[in-house]
Amino acid sequence: MVTSGLLSSIPGVRHGFGSAESLVPAELDPVWELRPAKRQVHGIRVAAISEPKHEVGDADGFHTRVPGLPVSIITADCVPLLLARRDGSQIAAVHAGWRGLHDGIIPAALAAMGEGTTVVAAVGPTICAACYEVSEELAEDFAQRFEALPREVVLPTHRHLDLRAIAEYQLRASGVEEIEHVGGCTCCARDAAGEPIYRSCRRGDRGSQMHSGLYITTKGEK
Ligand SMILES: [Zn+2]
Repeated sequence: MVTSGLLSSIPGVRHGFGSAESLVPAELDPVWELRPAKRQVHGIRVAAISEPKHEVGDADGFHTRVPGLPVSIITADCVPLLLARRDGSQIAAVHAGWRGLHDGIIPAALAAMGEGTTVVAAVGPTICAACYEVSEELAEDFAQRFEALPREVVLPTHRHLDLRAIAEYQLRASGVEEIEHVGGCTCCARDAAGEPIYRSCRRGDRGSQMHSGLYITTKGEK
């Protein structure tokens, strides 16, 4: 399990990013069975979660203000993004692959969260630019879509997209100032024994992807 010091500093919020060893972070165990019933489709719909096992259909972002209800996403190379308000009053989990980043799921998620205190963000284990080669056409599409950014930030090397950098840019453009990156590359990070630390679609893993998520503890719970 991978955690963020920044998110850990938020009162009453528990979180975790999955890894190959623990596909569901242990921190989510107490509420895991209450997670929403969802289908991630690389879209930009963000669903409000208000009841246990909420059936939300197709969605790639989830937010809630209700204590005890987890919001989570499944990834294996895409950006797993966890958000929380500084006062712990609201949380969100966002699945942002190239399509979601391109179409704007991050600003969509922040808009869906509405008004409140400052939002902080943790960007979890994501495929690195060196491992993430895309087509010439997609690379050019991104360079134009994010022309406000230096080209070498979007595409550090020819046809290699930096999803983390694009996610951070979108967060900052939406007013999020505190951002922490945690975990390594889902594709190339290895442990001391040479085993992959994460699941990766690009590396060829099929099924059993990693879950990442968070929840607000019920009142009075430490
Ligand atoms: Zn890599």
